[in-house]
Amino acid sequence: MSARTLPALSLDQLASIVGARLVAPSGERPPIRRVTIDSRECEEGVLFVPLRGRFTDGHLYLGEAFQRGASAALVQETVFSEAGSALLKHVVQTRGALLVVPDTLEALQTLGEWYLSSLRVPIRIGVTGSSGKTSTKEMLRAVLSLHYSRVWATEGNLNSEIGVPLSILGIREEPEVVICEMGIDHVGEMDVLARIVKPNLAVVTGIGSAHLERFGTRERIAREKAKIFSSFDDRSVGFIPEDEEFFHVLVEGWRGTFLPYGPATVEGFEGWESRGLEGVILLWKGLRIPLQGYGEHMVRNALGVIRLSDHLGVPPSMVAEGLQAYRPLFGRGELKEIGGVWFLVDCYNANPESMRASLEGVRGLKGVRRRIVVLGSMRELGDAAPSEHRRLGDYLAGYPADVVLLVGEEMEAAFAVLEGRSGVWWMRTVEEASSLLVSIVQEGDLVLLKGSRALGLERIIQDFEGRY
Ligand code: ATP
Ligand code: MG
Repeated sequence: MSARTLPALSLDQLASIVGARLVAPSGERPPIRRVTIDSRECEEGVLFVPLRGRFTDGHLYLGEAFQRGASAALVQETVFSEAGSALLKHVVQTRGALLVVPDTLEALQTLGEWYLSSLRVPIRIGVTGSSGKTSTKEMLRAVLSLHYSRVWATEGNLNSEIGVPLSILGIREEPEVVICEMGIDHVGEMDVLARIVKPNLAVVTGIGSAHLERFGTRERIAREKAKIFSSFDDRSVGFIPEDEEFFHVLVEGWRGTFLPYGPATVEGFEGWESRGLEGVILLWKGLRIPLQGYGEHMVRNALGVIRLSDHLGVPPSMVAEGLQAYRPLFGRGELKEIGGVWFLVDCYNANPESMRASLEGVRGLKGVRRRIVVLGSMRELGDAAPSEHRRLGDYLAGYPADVVLLVGEEMEAAFAVLEGRSGVWWMRTVEEASSLLVSIVQEGDLVLLKGSRALGLERIIQDFEGRY
């Protein structure tokens, strides 16, 4: 095995890869071995990439990056033409170098693309979909790490046009398998991600309504996500849920084979049982596989993983062992006991489909004293927000919860449908909801926390932890 870091790139090589104009004082300079977008992580051998965000501009930190010893920094052409002389002062003082590019983000992506291609990884798996990407990616990692010696996957939720290239640039050993979570929230983002990762295997976990605000229709979401297949050749394989409404939209026009997955199409699948708070048991090929995470949506994710692993020839016993070893990441169906109360922390994000999946999962849990569901607003739904929240209200009208606590502005629409029923509350803020919860919760209760990230329902957990 050849251990390697980002190949030590000379500034000339770097400039030619990203198409930059090199502005540097003369003299010997150390090669670039690491890339960062955080000026605080700069030191010798590091390339600083300033990005322009909604709230700040990384170019403001160029001075700090060089003071900390950055060997070079990318700089956007427009910034350089305005502030070039001030920047050059830093560069000369610290013996750094500037690489002037039309767009720093595009340059970062091009560098990520170049680096991954240079590693020649035989199995490149992309995972996209409206919900279940991180869970599926972590299950794949758990299973495939048993079969292949070097499996690399994007960490946590780094799935964007920034997170993916940056993660890739952190790969330190040539992997046999890479698994990339690929999330999109605007048109065109999948073109970029697919160009960087060039998956030859891909899972689309489903087309929901996350980010509907930016896309307009679900079909447009499907068409954007489908571009994950744009690098496919005839040997490539895509995996899509068997009941996916947009199956045909997804596969239209690409090379490769597309395999449906789900209870009806995964060979040897015999069903699943709930183990209450301990998760579920999958029955597959005569095996009983305990899986952490609750509800049918986790079973669906596992079936995708089984189908893909089977395609790669991973022995069933190993698939079972890997799925058993899988652990949910923060806020994605994590179970926590605090002072005798069970919290199902599922508030990493929420959209209509994941909200429903979560509630259905809780419905199926046995051995629970009382079910308390704390549901925060579903954000980024655009014009569909009022109707989606009302629809949730309709659904909750027939839902077997002992207490329904709705939180956040948008949830008022759901509350309007349920108003007058006992055990149903609406609170504008998480703080108010937390105080109310403290007063009604009892030992043995199960509390589901589900809502959009921006709301920060996990603060309720912090409140409870502070009390015990
Ligand atoms: P993000 O867009 O934030 O990256 P993600 O697609 O990575 O989300 P996960 O983090 O795996 O999704 O899961 C988020 C939540 O979505 C889970 O906590 C669960 O409530 C729900 N979920 C997971 N898998 C599915 C699925 N297959 N279908 C519907 N909902 C799901
Ligand atoms: Mg994710």
